[in-house]
Order: sequence, then C-alpha cells, then structure tokens
Amino acid sequence: MHGNSTLRITGGKVYDPANGIDGEIRDVCVCDGRIVSGVEADRTIDATGMVVFPGGVDVHTHVAGAALNFARAMIPEDHRRNVPFVRTPVRRGGIGGATPTTYVTGYLYAGLGYTTVNEAAVPILSARHTHEELRDTPIVDKTCCVLMANNEILLDLIEQGELERARHVMAWNIWAAKAYGVKAVNPGGVAAWKWGKDAKGLFEPVPGYSKVTPAQIISAIAGLVDGLGLPHPMHLHCNNLGAPGNFSTTLETMKLLEGNRAHLAHLQYHAYGGDDWTTMCSESVKVAEEFNTRGNLTTDAGVVLFGDTVTVTADGPWQHLLYELTGRKWGNLDVENETGCGVVPYVYKEKNLVNAIQWAVGLELLLLINDPWRVYLTTDHPNGAAFWRYPEIIQLLMNRDVRREQLEKLTPKALKRIVLPELDREYTLSEIAIITSAGPARALGLPQKGHLGVGADADVAIFNENPDRAQMFAYPRYVLKGGEVVIEEGEIRKAVEGKGLLVRPAYDEEVNEFLRPLFQQYYTMSFDNYPVELERIEHPEIRPCQPSH
Ligand SMILES: [Zn+2]
Repeated sequence: MHGNSTLRITGGKVYDPANGIDGEIRDVCVCDGRIVSGVEADRTIDATGMVVFPGGVDVHTHVAGAALNFARAMIPEDHRRNVPFVRTPVRRGGIGGATPTTYVTGYLYAGLGYTTVNEAAVPILSARHTHEELRDTPIVDKTCCVLMANNEILLDLIEQGELERARHVMAWNIWAAKAYGVKAVNPGGVAAWKWGKDAKGLFEPVPGYSKVTPAQIISAIAGLVDGLGLPHPMHLHCNNLGAPGNFSTTLETMKLLEGNRAHLAHLQYHAYGGDDWTTMCSESVKVAEEFNTRGNLTTDAGVVLFGDTVTVTADGPWQHLLYELTGRKWGNLDVENETGCGVVPYVYKEKNLVNAIQWAVGLELLLLINDPWRVYLTTDHPNGAAFWRYPEIIQLLMNRDVRREQLEKLTPKALKRIVLPELDREYTLSEIAIITSAGPARALGLPQKGHLGVGADADVAIFNENPDRAQMFAYPRYVLKGGEVVIEEGEIRKAVEGKGLLVRPAYDEEVNEFLRPLFQQYYTMSFDNYPVELERIEHPEIRPCQPSH
C-alpha cells in the first residue's frame, strides 16, 4: 500500500493552511506513508524554487458508474478528438477528453497533484458497478455519496413522519452501498420525473405524493445525516438547477438548513436571476451574501469553462429541458425506486448569453464568498468542464488581467448581466491550497487529508514556482501518494492502488425485516443480492461515525 521507505522534501516553499504555514521554506519528512517530524531519509527531493502543497481533494466529481458509461457512449466524436493513452510498463491504456476512462482518470487526477476524489452521485442499486470502476481508478483514494432524496421507501417514511425508521433505513442503505456520504439531488423532483413532472416549489407537495414537500425532504435528510454522525454532511444539489430566477430557491434552501450542516453542490448552477432565458442574469452577489452569513454551510463552485463537454446528472427533468433547449442528443435512465439520470452532450460558447453568465457566476462566487475554507474548486466534472482543466480556473482566480482578457470576448449584453468585471480580488497560493485541498478535506471529514502535519497521509504535490499559474498547476514536478513518488517530471512513475474510504453508521437489525418485503414487492434485484460486499472495496478504510440524538 505505501512505501516503507523514508523521504525528505527539502528547500521548498510549504503551503499548509490547516497548520498555519503560509509559504515558509521548511522540510517535509515522510516515513511509512505518513508525514513525520523528522527522518533519516533514504531519498531527498530538492524542492528549491518549488511550492509544496498537500495533495488535492476533489469534493464533487463524477468519475465512475453507469451514468458515465452512458455518457461516454454518447460522445464518440470526443473520443476521436482526443489522443488515446497507450499502455506502457507502468500505465494502462484508455481515453481522456470529457469523460476519461477509469485508469486514465486516476492518472490525470494524480497528474494535477490530486490524491483524493469524492464520486458525488451513486445510485445504491448500481453501487456494486461503481465500486468495480473505482477499484480500477488508480492512485487516488475514493469516497462516494449515495443518492437518497428520491428514494421512494425513504420518501414514504418522511411523508408518514417516521423519521426514526427512516434513520435506520438510511444507515442500512449507506452500508449496503459501502458509501461515505449522502447526496440529495433535486429532492422530490427526480421521483416526480418518473411521471414527466418536477418539484419546483419547495413548499408544494411532490407530484405523486399527497403531502411530502421538497422542503421536508431537505430538512429530514440533513437532520438524519447529522444524527447518524456521518463525517460529511448532506451533499445537496438544490431544486431548480440551471433555471433563470433559481437564486430565490437557493436562498430559501439555505434558510431551511439552519440548525444542520450541509454541503451545497455546484453553487454556480443555482445563482441565476431573471424570469426567462432572455432576461437571465447573475445573482451571485445575493447568493454569496446569504452564504457568507451561514457558517453551517460549505459549497463547491461548479465552474463552467468554454468548450465541449457532456452533462450528466441525476436531475432528469433538468436534462430533458436542456435537450429541448439545445436539440442535442439526450439520454434518460430511470433507476427503479431510487433515482434517475439524464445525459446531454453540450458546448459552452463565449458568445452565448446564458453560457457567458454561467462562466462568470462560477468565478464570481469563488471571489465573493469571503471564507475560502467554505468554498471549493470544482467544475462538477464533467458538467461545467473536465476536471483536468482546473489549472485554467486557478489562473483566472489568481490573475485579474487574465480574467479581463477573457471578459473582452463576451458580448456587451452579457457584460451587463454579470459582476465579474468589478471584482478585483486575486487568490493567493495559500487560498488555492485551501480551496483545492485543506477545505474540501475538512468538509469531507478526512482528518488525515488536506494537510502536511505529523500523522497526515503523505499525499504531497510539488510545483515549479511559475507566474503562469495555468502552466504551474497543470504540470506538478512531483506528486507523492501515501509516501510513494507517483509523478516525477510530469511522468507517471508508479501507479499505486488507492483506498476506498467508507462509513458504517449504526442501525437496528430489525430494519432488514422492514425492507425485505418491500424489496420483494418493488425491486428487480433480490434483497440478499443488493448490498455490496466489503471484499469488493479496494483497501477499505472505515471512518468512525459519532451519532447524536
Ligand atoms: Zn454533480
């Protein structure tokens, strides 16, 4: 798993914000895969003139499972455009592009200095498949969040006010899926989509249900997740994603979450004003102002970059609308009683008013949210852009002149609908280390990740100091995973295996007797075949939960 060799990184400028270290020249020592205070080193890396970061942590990405395969099948043109990764003695083959295949995903993440990723949307029903693919995603450690906010068994229990039983069902499901956290996507809306409907009003009953509302689902799940003591709070994709005027739903959702913790996914897609597509505008100022006052919340940006990609989400009704708007290919999957999925290949264009606003809003939120510990760098890969484009975003955040050059390419109409031209803030290297590593590690509840203190996993990214930040962050000089040098001079040196990080929340065994007949009645899969065996997880590490009542 990890090297029993020892190593010293010397002379580098260390950015370790979790330990209050901001660009100090100091040594980082590694023994048995962990950071130690000092060591007789077998190997020394001279990092003079370089910058040393804790390994990157992606809090929200989509890299494994049926939906990604579905998306790949729909974009053969993307595969033709991209140079394939050929097999070498240390590396397996595959394709890159908008949705890189499993092995290549591991290589590309490590190639950016990322060492931990959170697969953000796993249907429990297909968790076994997702874990098989995560096993084939090398180098990075993996967590995953299972989809719960449209699970019909859970929604029935919430509607009936049976929250105690719902807590046991949720805990059973988390362990059945060998998951780490709970994701809520368009609460109620994906269940309604089975009947061609959506759940747009937070306080109106979900179509198909007599009384349960999205607001009740959101509050119930946030409370249940906190009650189970999961290290990561409810991971929420709010209702009305992508729609003009949806910022008011987002503000209402933040108010509902008072008293609980929550992570709001890809906030960019939830910060729009206007009444329709012609009047759409940025409302990032109002969203950021409200968010700034709510210390119980974290978020990730979900930045959009111009170019080709493919959108993949459990939010089926939204994907159908996107298909109607674009006339592009569209795919839809229903996942029995649990969730759904839509896929639409997409191109974000500079001259398109809506796309220009989306591009600006992602950056605006990152610049307007004042605490970098609560907002993280993501593109909601592959939805806003592929994750391997993160260095372009880092450059935009660190350099307002580069932002201005890009702003000049937008239409005058778009410029009137955004606030980005007025924002002068430039991120520091320490703030980049927070939004790419220290912050997401803390939000995920991973105490051994996102820092370089004694006892941390020796996941380290070392970059050549370079004023061209896009270049600097695209090609780390060295990357260490669990103390092993996996990338050196831009080349993969060793493709180590990653760990599967999961939780085992407590539940009453009686819940089996409650669920078994429901499965027999409503599921295609038998109850006994449903849970994923622990043996399928590569190097499982079970994180503790501290339940509260
Ligand atoms: Zn997502």
